[in-house]
Amino acid sequence: MFGTGRYSGWRVVKEALTGHKGWGPAWRDPEPQASYDYIIIGGGGHGLATAYYLAKEFRQARIAVLEKGYLGGGNVGRNTTIIRSNYLLDGNEPFYEFSLKLWEGLEQDFNFNAMVSQRGIINLIHTDAQRDAFTRRGNAMILNGADAELLDREQVRAMYPFLNFNNARFPIKGALMQRRGGTVRHDAVAWGYARGADSRGVDLIQNCEVTGIRTEQGRVTGVDTTRGFIGAKKVGVAVAGNSSRVMAHVGMRLPMESHVLQAFVSEGLKPLIDGVMTYGAGHFYVSQSDKGGLVFGGDIDGYNTYAQRGNMPVVEDVAEGGMSLIPMIGRARLLRSWGGIMDMSMDGSPIIDKTDIEGLYFNGGWCYGGFKATPASGWCFAHLLATDRPHETATAYRFDRFRKGLMIDEKGQGAQPNLH
Ligand SMILES: Cc1cc2nc3c(=O)[nH]c(=O)nc-3n(C[C@H](O)[C@H](O)[C@H](O)COP(=O)(O)OP(=O)(O)OC[C@H]3O[C@@H](n4cnc5c(N)ncnc54)[C@H](O)[C@@H]3O)c2cc1C
Repeated sequence: MFGTGRYSGWRVVKEALTGHKGWGPAWRDPEPQASYDYIIIGGGGHGLATAYYLAKEFRQARIAVLEKGYLGGGNVGRNTTIIRSNYLLDGNEPFYEFSLKLWEGLEQDFNFNAMVSQRGIINLIHTDAQRDAFTRRGNAMILNGADAELLDREQVRAMYPFLNFNNARFPIKGALMQRRGGTVRHDAVAWGYARGADSRGVDLIQNCEVTGIRTEQGRVTGVDTTRGFIGAKKVGVAVAGNSSRVMAHVGMRLPMESHVLQAFVSEGLKPLIDGVMTYGAGHFYVSQSDKGGLVFGGDIDGYNTYAQRGNMPVVEDVAEGGMSLIPMIGRARLLRSWGGIMDMSMDGSPIIDKTDIEGLYFNGGWCYGGFKATPASGWCFAHLLATDRPHETATAYRFDRFRKGLMIDEKGQGAQPNLH
């Protein structure tokens, strides 16, 4: 094992008694080698998970992850930390349920405390039609082996009596609940996968931007980077919001747009919301961190950008959503906000597929729901890279679904990325 050895309770006690001199860096800082069997572009959650499972589950070696900044500096460390598998469509639900099952054993698997907290998620219902739709979704979840419960208004009131139940336009009539949903400390997921991959010999190379992808006779041969050319037999792209820019290196236009999504954290408050809640009449979702801050968000800003910060109109829109659902939130002060770049696909669902260039593989289009997908995305991408076959839960995530009309449009919005 490379790195700093296994973490355990005994180790904490031992280090406490010996002055904490035994802790080393959680991963190495290697120089890039001349070539690898596998290069993963992007040291976010998905890239790191891919490298981890490639090494651990598929027993592959000579793997590098190339990250243009620092590990976890992208969306994996910027999201609102919600995990769930409450999807409706066949192409999605088995994949997200696979992911939730992986979350359930993740900390033991990669020996890192990622604070996986299955505190439950509720999607609020405001109309009878919405109850019908959520009932259908709950049944689809159960058919796919997930858990789902329909709550009536009084059950929701018992959980969160301070919600605006009698809002004249959007009264709360109940909720769809998934008790196994919840939150995970997002940056610890990047660190856990990084440490687990490093300990299996994966080179994690930071400050190494990929500036070109070289091919010869239709086959990938390696990548140009800010630290020189690095050869590779197979290259996997997992760069989330930068997908279009990286795939442009091989002249590929993606069915995708990049948009900014903002997140917000309030000042620390006493325990108030012990689960995750989404508003069914506006776009607003909220949970409370262990430090007491309300962590919330809403819609994307709605214009194409690669900036990792948003603008005031959406701040106002999200605040209005919060106020209409939880009026007392207006008395809390906002402590921080930030943005991340979303790879919004045309149908709101991701792509995990080969490209027409041999040895070049693509993982992206996660929109603003890719954090919950991190374990399954990494596993399925590793499966594809190692075996050249899609994993059974990811067979629908193909490029050609747009050509064949097999869209996985969970929201039913059509080809409008800004609405997914
Ligand atoms: C505000 C916000 C809230 C969100 N909330 C949720 C949520 O509650 N639940 C949920 O499931 N999802 C959520 N998401 C979405 C989720 O965070 C993303 O879908 C997911 O993290 C994307 O995958 P990733 O972790 O690999 O991306 P990233 O962490 O962005 O990783 C991609 C990496 O690629 C690197 N890169 C880019 N170009 C290059 C290059 N040329 N060379 C080398 N490296 C490169 C980037 O620096 C980056 O580190 C949210 C996102 C945001 C921004």
